[in-house]
Amino acid sequence: MFDLTDTQQMIRATVREFAQRELAPRARHVDESGEFPKESFRKMAELGLMGIPFPEEYGGAGGDTLSFAIAIEEISRVCGSTALGLAAHTSLGTMPIWLFGSEELKRKYVPPNARGETIGAYGLTEPGAGSDSSGTATTATKVPGGWRISGSKMFMTNASVSHVMTVTAVTDKDADKHSRISAFVLDSTWKGITVAKKEDKLGVRGSDTCYVTFEDVSVPDSHLLGERGRGWEYFMKILDNGRIGIGAMALGLAEGAYERALAYSRERKAFGKPIAAHQAVAFMLADMAVGIEAARHLVYAAARLKDAGRPFKKEAAMAKLFASEHAMRTTRDAIQVLGGYGYLNEYEVERYYRDAKLCTIGEGTSEIQRIVISKEVIGKLG
Ligand SMILES: Cc1cc2nc3c(=O)[nH]c(=O)nc-3n(C[C@H](O)[C@H](O)[C@H](O)COP(=O)(O)OP(=O)(O)OC[C@H]3O[C@@H](n4cnc5c(N)ncnc54)[C@H](O)[C@@H]3O)c2cc1C
Repeated sequence: MFDLTDTQQMIRATVREFAQRELAPRARHVDESGEFPKESFRKMAELGLMGIPFPEEYGGAGGDTLSFAIAIEEISRVCGSTALGLAAHTSLGTMPIWLFGSEELKRKYVPPNARGETIGAYGLTEPGAGSDSSGTATTATKVPGGWRISGSKMFMTNASVSHVMTVTAVTDKDADKHSRISAFVLDSTWKGITVAKKEDKLGVRGSDTCYVTFEDVSVPDSHLLGERGRGWEYFMKILDNGRIGIGAMALGLAEGAYERALAYSRERKAFGKPIAAHQAVAFMLADMAVGIEAARHLVYAAARLKDAGRPFKKEAAMAKLFASEHAMRTTRDAIQVLGGYGYLNEYEVERYYRDAKLCTIGEGTSEIQRIVISKEVIGKLG
């Protein structure tokens, strides 16, 4: 129905088999311990999943955006934490360098990231600047030969396990609110960079979410990403792209919870028949299936637009908004289908519910997606 290419079908089959074999047995431990799944990342690197959309010449798999989305969908069906770490590494940790970096930066950082020898992180959000990232307070002060960066970043995925970080900082405080900001590529080991806190959280608990501080970090001129004053613009483009990945993650989480609910509803009996034969339960399953199909159409369509080099901002926001909100409905109702058992950790659907919530927040909340979509559909007024 989706007319996938042979390569895309092969990626789905390979990642599905890998996720069942390697990730499913560890998913509950990753959630309960909150430990970053290092071993899973090593195995994903072996399989070539750490750099799907980057050219082979730069260490990647030379795949398209849809292949990447399919891989994230399949991993999310079994482990949201691993999926978020991989999505952030690819779309946020490596993509900015690939899209906007100099050839020198690309050659240095993209191949090891794409091969999975190193991990990338991305710092836009700050304690005082989330949805409104133009409020960035981290500063980069010009010094001979480079910059000194001071400030902090909140919620940086992969930060404590990262080797490279791309961050925004104010370079031109008197310029307008967006051109004040530039972006920089930093080695995570550089002096002055401290992972001050690893956050404990509701879901995607094995993904690494950190508060990071920067104290007079010396950054050479060559590590300015692209042009001075364009960091905010670059990061917004990165988020457009990343939303396809978060949409795919939400889709996979919804599928994982739905499949468990469907299987359970056929087995569990109440009032002399399988609960699936009770219309109230059957209708919940029908609504889950409809939304999953719709979410898949939206996510794949956004990926295909991007792959065709066409505008995809609105479609990526729509895909992320719909898929993440449907993942919340599906995971909530999957718990309902399992009744009391759905509430127990052992049956795992409650983990999907907790993991899915992140998809309505990360890379722009649902409210921000509605702002993006409404601006696109309404256009300029007056
Ligand atoms: C697990 C996790 C991983 C993350 N990973 C990263 C990462 O790797 N890198 C990174 O930079 N950030 C990351 N984030 C941060 C994430 O992108 C922000 O949390 C998100 O953009 C919202 O920002 P905020 O938390 O500051 O909320 P706020 O911006 O303070 O928003 C609070 C509430 O107000 C609403 N709101 C704000 N403005 C408006 C408006 N104009 N109209 C209507 N409602 C509005 C929001 O929708 C929300 O409901 C991560 C977050 C989490 C939870």
